[in-house]
Amino acid sequence: MTDDVNKTEERTDEYEDICYICRRPESKAGKMMKLPNNIAICAECMQKTFDSMSGGPFPGMGNMDFMGFSPFLFGGPGDMPEQQRLKKKQPKEKKKEEVPEGVFDIRHLKAPHVIKAELDEYVIGQEKAKKVMSVAVYNHYKRVYDKVEDGVELEKSNMLMLGPTGSGKTYLVKTLAKLLNVPLAITDATSLTEAGYIGDDVESVLSKLLAAADNDVERAEQGIVFIDEIDKIAKKRNAHSRDVSGESVQQGLLKLLEGAEVEVPVGASSKNAMVPMTTIDTKNILFICGGAFPDLENVIKRRLTKQSAIGFTGDLKDRFDEDKDILAKATVEDLREYGMIPEFIGRLPVIFALRQLDKEMLVKVLQEPKNAILKQYKKLLAMDEVDLVFDDGALEAIAEKALEKDTGARALRAIIEELMLDIMYEIPKDDAIGRVTITKDYILNNGAPLIEMRTSYATPLLEAPKE
Ligand code: ADP
Repeated sequence: MTDDVNKTEERTDEYEDICYICRRPESKAGKMMKLPNNIAICAECMQKTFDSMSGGPFPGMGNMDFMGFSPFLFGGPGDMPEQQRLKKKQPKEKKKEEVPEGVFDIRHLKAPHVIKAELDEYVIGQEKAKKVMSVAVYNHYKRVYDKVEDGVELEKSNMLMLGPTGSGKTYLVKTLAKLLNVPLAITDATSLTEAGYIGDDVESVLSKLLAAADNDVERAEQGIVFIDEIDKIAKKRNAHSRDVSGESVQQGLLKLLEGAEVEVPVGASSKNAMVPMTTIDTKNILFICGGAFPDLENVIKRRLTKQSAIGFTGDLKDRFDEDKDILAKATVEDLREYGMIPEFIGRLPVIFALRQLDKEMLVKVLQEPKNAILKQYKKLLAMDEVDLVFDDGALEAIAEKALEKDTGARALRAIIEELMLDIMYEIPKDDAIGRVTITKDYILNNGAPLIEMRTSYATPLLEAPKE
C-alpha cells in the first residue's frame, strides 16, 4: 500500500475531497481514493471503472476489493501487483524463445564437446578428426560473431582433411552442417577450372551455396563449402613443363578462401545476361577441403626416413610402411612437396587426417550410427511386421567383403543392397514369416537366410543367391 492510500484514510483536514468522476463530496460518496496530481475518486466510481474493465486488460479484476488493492494506486513498477508484473515479463520471455535456434547467436553456439557428442551419434571412429573439427567450427562461428572491437582479429578456421576414400570425409561435413543448421555446398575440385575455360569457374560453388540457402544471401554467407578431391588440383611434380591448370585453380580459390565479395548469379549456376546477380561476401564462409592424397604417404615416409638416424633407413622404412596412421603425420612441407601451393595451404590452417576404416569399424558403421543402413532395412521390414536379424558372423563377412573393394565404407551400401534385394522381394509374399536371420553362410553364398514363421518354427525357405 502506498502513502496516498494511508493519507486518504487518515485525513483530518477541514476541506472535503470531491470525486473526480461523479463530483460528489466525500461526505456523500464515502472515502476517496487519492491518485497522483490531487485527483480523488470515490469507491463507487472506482468499482464502476473496474467493472467496465473486466474482460479487458485486467480480466477478472472487476469485482476486486479495490479498497485493499488497486493497480492505479501503485507508485512504480516495483510496487505492481504480481498479475501485472507477469504481464510485463511475458512478452520478454517469448522474445527469447523467438531467437532462432542457430549457431550464430553466441548464446546458442554449441560448445565443442556438444558438437563432438552429436557427431559421435553418426560418425564411427575418427576421434581426432571429430575433435579438431568441433573446435575449429566453434572458433569459426565465434569469429563470425566477433565484432573486432579490440583490434584482435580472429583467423579463419578453414580446414584441410586428408583421408582415404570412404573414410567419412564428406559424411562428416554433411553431418556437421546438418547439426549446425547451416547451408552446405559440395563441389569437386576436378570440375573447377580457371575463369574463361570450359567447366565451372571457382565462383560457381557460391551459386550452389546460395541455392542451398534458398537464395538467402545472409544465410549463405555463414554457410559451409566442401571442396572434395582437392589433391587433384596439385601441381604435377617432377614435370618439366609447368602444370598450369591445377595451380591456377588453386590461385583462383585463394581469394574465396580468404574472403572476397563475389558476384554470383541467383537461381542458376552459370552467368548469363538474363540471370539476376547478387554479391556474396565469403569472409565468414567456412571452407573445408578434402582429398585422399594418394602418394602423400610416400612423401611423408621419405621425409621421416631422411630426418631419422642415417644408416638404419631400411629398418625405418619398414616401420613407416606398417604405420597405418601415417597421413596424420603430414606437415605443410609435405603438402607443398605434393604440389599444393604455399598460399593455398596457408589459407587452410586446420589440417587433420582421417583413418582408413578397419573391419571392426566397418561392422560398427553397419549398425551403430543413428541412421545406420541396417537400422533402415530393419525399419522397412518391421513395417511388414518382420524382424530382421544379422548374426555376428554375417556382419564380419560383410565387412571383409567391403575391405576387399578398398573403398572404405562406400562399399558397404552396395553389398547390403545386393544381398537385401532377394529378401525384400521374397518376404512380403508370405504373411506368416515373422523373422529373417542373415547368416555368414548366406553372405558367402553357402546357404539361405534363416526364416522363422510366426508360429515359431524355423525352416530355410530362400535359395542361396546364384553366383
Ligand atoms: P569420403 O568422402 O571420405 O570418400 P564418404 O564420407 O562419402 O567418404 O563415405 C561414404 C559413406 O560411408 C557415407 O555416406 C557414410 O554412410 C559411410 N561412412 C563413411 N565413413 C563413416 C564413418 N566413419 N562412420 C559412419 N559412416 C561412415
